[in-house]
Amino acid sequence: MTKAIFIDRDGTLLDEPKTEIINTWDKFKIKNKIRCLAKLPSEYKLFIISNQEGINDGKLEQNFYDETNQKLLVALEKFGVKIENIYTCPHAIKENCNCRKPKTGLIEQANKDFQIAKNKSWVIGDRISDIVLAQTSGMKSIFIKSKLHALDDIKSDFVAENLCEAVEYINKNL
Ligand SMILES: [Mg+2]
Ligand SMILES: [Zn+2]
Repeated sequence: MTKAIFIDRDGTLLDEPKTEIINTWDKFKIKNKIRCLAKLPSEYKLFIISNQEGINDGKLEQNFYDETNQKLLVALEKFGVKIENIYTCPHAIKENCNCRKPKTGLIEQANKDFQIAKNKSWVIGDRISDIVLAQTSGMKSIFIKSKLHALDDIKSDFVAENLCEAVEYINKNL
C-alpha cells in the first residue's frame, strides 16, 4: 500500500490568477514555498490532482497545460521533490463527470495505479472541493489559506498559511 499526499495545483503549487484559469505564460507563477515539500518523509508518494475544466471548455490548450506541468515538475525536481503522477480532470462542469473534485474519480485512478493507503494519506488544497474530497475518501486534509476562496463551515484537519506550514503539520501528525 502507498502512503500518498495529493496536492492541488492552481492556488496551491502555483499562484492562482483572479481569472482562475492559467492559460497563458503571464499567469503561470510557481510558488516559492514548493521547496518545503522536500521535507516530507520519503515513504510518502506525492501526486498532483487538478480540475481543469478549461480543457474541455476550449479555454485551455491541452499542450499548454502539459507544458506548464513539465515546467512545474522541473522546478520541483530542483528542490529534490519528486511527483509520482499528475491526475487531471479535463471535463467541463456540465459533463458531470465522476473525477471533478470533490468527486473521487482522480483518487480512484491513483488507487488503481498505486494502491493508496487512504487512512494514512493526505490532501492539500486551497478550495472546499479539496477538503470535501479528502473527507469523502477517508483521508486527512490541509486547507491552504487563500485570498480567493474561503473554507466556510467545512472543517479541515488543519488550516495552513502556506505549504511550508502544511508540511510541518504533516510531519508532526504522521
Ligand atoms: Mg486550487
Ligand atoms: Zn472529470
